[in-house]
Amino acid sequence: MANEAVLTPQGEDFPQWYQDVVARAELAENGPARGTMVIRPWAWAIWEHMQADMDRRIKATGVQNAYFPLFIPMSFLEKEREHVEGFSPELAVVTHGGGEQLAEPLVVRPTSETVINHLFAKWIQSYRDLPMLLNQWANVVRWELRPRLFLRTTEFLWQEGHTAHATYEEAQAETMQMLEVYRAFMEETLAIGVVVGEKSAAERFAGADRTYTCEGLMRDGKALQMGTSHNLGHNFARAFDIQYLSAEGRRELVATTSWGSSTRMLGAVIMAHGDDHGLRLPPAIAPHQAVLIPLGEGEVVRMVDKLAAELRADGVRAHVDSRFHLSFGRRSVDWELKGVPVRVELGPRELGAGRATLVRRDTRAKSPVPLDGVAMAVRGLLEELQRGLHAESLAYRDEHTYTVANLEEFRERVGDGGFFRLAWCGSEACEQAIGDGTGASIRAIVSEPPPGPACVVDGAPAAHTVLAARAY
Ligand SMILES: [Zn+2]
Repeated sequence: MANEAVLTPQGEDFPQWYQDVVARAELAENGPARGTMVIRPWAWAIWEHMQADMDRRIKATGVQNAYFPLFIPMSFLEKEREHVEGFSPELAVVTHGGGEQLAEPLVVRPTSETVINHLFAKWIQSYRDLPMLLNQWANVVRWELRPRLFLRTTEFLWQEGHTAHATYEEAQAETMQMLEVYRAFMEETLAIGVVVGEKSAAERFAGADRTYTCEGLMRDGKALQMGTSHNLGHNFARAFDIQYLSAEGRRELVATTSWGSSTRMLGAVIMAHGDDHGLRLPPAIAPHQAVLIPLGEGEVVRMVDKLAAELRADGVRAHVDSRFHLSFGRRSVDWELKGVPVRVELGPRELGAGRATLVRRDTRAKSPVPLDGVAMAVRGLLEELQRGLHAESLAYRDEHTYTVANLEEFRERVGDGGFFRLAWCGSEACEQAIGDGTGASIRAIVSEPPPGPACVVDGAPAAHTVLAARAY
């Protein structure tokens, strides 16, 4: 009945498992316009916790939040050649408004470099105005031909940071600082082990000098790009004429950066931690960290309410599920699906014996706990779960990172999933050969000495160690 397989097992069909979880845990649905996404309350609450944590981390570096318009004049995008070339295929363009054809089409922002740099040019006059450090939380639109909820949708939500600096070196330092903010967030808050590194030229953000990425490994062995940070150098400053008067009285171009992370991270949490029973949420972002389920009414409910109050007083996000029209089993399965870290179950017999049952979502282990020790036990379990999920994710990443000596070995094994560490000379042709027929790409250039002296493709001297993988 309620306990029977509600989800397709991961090992049987991972994409179907993902769709099942998204639907059954009531996370999201397709919107009526193709490629759009409806985020349901449970996923939205998770997102709010992620957003609050990320926002705190961003502000701690001195960045301020602001808001810029949804519509951008087409001519703005055309100012930076690589930027417009990169984004053209994905643009949604508004040609009519108020019943009339517009004199100039408006682009629905795919990202906001152009409009923000336009304002930088106005706001930045002197070296005293630098650095300018801004972030916005917004929706963006990139036309998506093969949409997948949270991973690729035509409209998605994100934060995009935009900064301007006096020198290229300062912009580079900001780029690396924000990459580290992302890495720490993924590891500490989302409990996902990631790798960080630079993108190859082919994978760079359109208009950037250097792009850095955080990549996670999902439980099907595919990589997911979870956040990127770009040093835009002087490219946008030149296009938008952002100059400042230096302390020495010279006119200089600023150097800019941008960095973003999105609702895609919800997809990462689902695929990095989820199991055959549903989501497994790290306590840091769980809307309910503990759900208390009374089996029976009266005395049992009174005790459960008392325990919930104790937990809340201890700073735990506790929720009582008193949906008595649903069976006890159905309620348990529901919270298991939704990934709640700890369940506290109490029936009349247990109440008589002076104890409750604690169920942890990560291992699904049950343990009896005396009623007066519930609050302390739950807090302890939450800490353990946050650490445990992270350790599991790190171990998974490490166990699925392989060093390959040649292209044949890579081609044979890449289908099984994982990160493949290989030596690369840096040429575009060899990068293409790595992707040919494998469906894989270079995910990141990592700061390790090359695993061999020669490029796995053409045997030229190796310049880098890269991690290649199939990716979402
Ligand atoms: Zn090569």
